[in-house]
Amino acid sequence: MPAFPEPAETLADRLAAVDERIADAARAAGRDPGVITRIVVTKFHPASLVEALYGLGVRDVGENRQQEFTAKAADAGDLEGLRWHYIGQAQTNKARAIRAAASAVHSVDRARLADALDAAAESGSPVLDVLLQVNLTDDPARGGVAPGDLEELAVHTAGLPTLRVRGIMAVAPLGIAPAEAFAQLPGLADTVRGVVPDADWISAGMTADYAEAIAAGATHLRIGSAITGPRPQRG
Ligand SMILES: *Cc1c(COP(=O)(O)O)cnc(C)c1O
Repeated sequence: MPAFPEPAETLADRLAAVDERIADAARAAGRDPGVITRIVVTKFHPASLVEALYGLGVRDVGENRQQEFTAKAADAGDLEGLRWHYIGQAQTNKARAIRAAASAVHSVDRARLADALDAAAESGSPVLDVLLQVNLTDDPARGGVAPGDLEELAVHTAGLPTLRVRGIMAVAPLGIAPAEAFAQLPGLADTVRGVVPDADWISAGMTADYAEAIAAGATHLRIGSAITGPRPQRG
């Protein structure tokens, strides 16, 4: 028995409602909604949901676990123009599998992972877009590079021939108002742009905080449950 009743609205309704709220938040911040990429996070949902989203015009989807990602990308087959964003923590020994299916990896948080993704390029692989994930908390156990180590990671990653540093990624920490945490983003983005001048992506904002992320300058939103509905329980 479901823990709560199925919402009456459809996937298309939820997608449209989120897109409307994105446009409102962008206008409220004096920003052009057209420069914001809405990534639909499809983790725990089947490939059929990705296909349904594709049918509604979605071209950017996000996954956070390598095995699930690899299987789903294979199941969803050849959806022309669909971009898979890998947004989860990654082990270096999974770099090859991630690179094989991802258009962009948002979660590069250490030099060894950048090296592994670079080494995973096959001859003829397109350059891989990567974002440097920054830890906005004081807890080193959370994912992301410490802000003080961001510049060094940017220099290292920018030197790898098959990766293109596009910007930063962050997750709002628990227990702090998202707007307060996201206020660090513009300065962190500047740090990376000091190394790679055109690295202008800021990946931030989830279901609970995407309006705050837009106000802080986010260019890539990673929105799951507000669009997909509640995630199925993991088996
Ligand atoms: C699951 C996930 C999201 C989306 O979460 P929602 O709250 O469902 O929008 C965004 N970013 C990351 C890194 C995630 O793991």
